[in-house]
Amino acid sequence: MSARKVDYLLIGGGLASANCARWLREEGAEGEVLLVGREPDAPYNRPECSKGYLRGEESREEPLFRPAEWWGEQGIELLTRTSVTGLDLDTRTAKLSSKEEVEFKQALVATGANVRRLNVEGCELEEIHYLRTLGNADAIRESVRDAESVVLIGGSYIGCEVAASMTMLGKQATIVMQEQKTLERGFGREAGRFVQELLEAHGVTVHGQDELERFAGDGRVAKVVTRNGLELDAEAVVIGAGVSPDIQLAQRAGLEIGEQGGVRCSSRLQSTAEGMFAAGDMCEYESSMHGGHVRIEHWDVAFNQGKTAALNMLGRDLAHEVVPYFYSVLGDWGELEYVGPAKDWDEEILRGSYDDGEFTTWYLKEGSVKAALTFGRSDDLEHARRLIVDGVALDEHKRGALADVDWDLEDVK
Ligand SMILES: Cc1cc2nc3c(=O)[nH]c(=O)nc-3n(C[C@H](O)[C@H](O)[C@H](O)COP(=O)(O)OP(=O)(O)OC[C@H]3O[C@@H](n4cnc5c(N)ncnc54)[C@H](O)[C@@H]3O)c2cc1C
Repeated sequence: MSARKVDYLLIGGGLASANCARWLREEGAEGEVLLVGREPDAPYNRPECSKGYLRGEESREEPLFRPAEWWGEQGIELLTRTSVTGLDLDTRTAKLSSKEEVEFKQALVATGANVRRLNVEGCELEEIHYLRTLGNADAIRESVRDAESVVLIGGSYIGCEVAASMTMLGKQATIVMQEQKTLERGFGREAGRFVQELLEAHGVTVHGQDELERFAGDGRVAKVVTRNGLELDAEAVVIGAGVSPDIQLAQRAGLEIGEQGGVRCSSRLQSTAEGMFAAGDMCEYESSMHGGHVRIEHWDVAFNQGKTAALNMLGRDLAHEVVPYFYSVLGDWGELEYVGPAKDWDEEILRGSYDDGEFTTWYLKEGSVKAALTFGRSDDLEHARRLIVDGVALDEHKRGALADVDWDLEDVK
């Protein structure tokens, strides 16, 4: 079978690919654009899987990146339920699971991430779930329909968001996690304590400094047994134990893999092969802002990197310099927003108050802001972005200004 030819091959049916396709067309790309994704759905916004869509408040269409007809209107060919099974960088040819071969001029590899699976005793029991796709969200909603107790394994944002959604559905949600406080790995102990108390105030039970030992049940899960000896009733379980970048295809093709397990890219998001770009959860890019290569699993990063990759495919020669933004919605109880990320920091400054439920935490390293988390003070984030990009050195006076809600952050420069 002779290979068909396209100008732009976008591999992966997630947000990074979808936004790359969009920007190729918005910026005037005239050639053939083919987007190949293995899921049954057209590209969609994955965050809804733990929020409104999980709770049954949204239709299957609402999370979609664009309505079904948009792809045809844009002249973008969308192949769903199709995997790219091999890539030959010398001949610039991709093999598809449909057995078709596609020759391309430039490609984006945006294969995202896979959930980290926990292989403990009883893990094969029914009603134990992971959450990555709309299909997973459907299965969880079905599984908890008549359930009273749902156990979440993991105290990161998936565990917290699903616990909030389950509570809103009238279930007793219990989190089991290794951390002392929810979300503390990303945001520190104090902000973590705030989130945990918010969850607990709405009825979520949290067991920290513990971990999953095994599941028990007859055919379907009935109990979660923890290392500390707890035996928790569980009619359904959702595991949020992190993800790992899906680099299988890229690695087999010979693209270099970085220290953080992603496809190593330049600041322009080009991989080690000319004309082969990467974006989203599996892209490890060089960032002057972060002082080295970083790989970040946020919705907004996938979105913006898709755009940068598209512009660079069109020869714009742009470094990806958007300050990474993250948000997490806890039911209808509030939203966390964050810019950064700071992997480690040596000082936290609080503006506002955890007790009042309105605050911004500034994360500093060696005297300058590396990240900021806010709850109810979104306007502070613009200043955080500026302080991070400019690397402003903060003396005692400026530190005081960051801490004091009566100070105009405009003056901190
Ligand atoms: C439940 C949930 C809630 C989230 N909530 C938030 C949030 O509130 N805030 C936030 O900032 N981030 C959130 N995220 C993270 C965010 O959704 C991801 O960072 C983002 O989806 C990454 O986009 P991506 O395009 O890189 O990868 P993905 O969305 O993973 O898309 C990659 C796609 O490529 C497909 N694929 C893989 N290999 C192949 C292949 N060989 N051939 C064809 N297709 C392939 C995959 O099946 C997948 O569909 C959430 C994630 C989940 C799972």
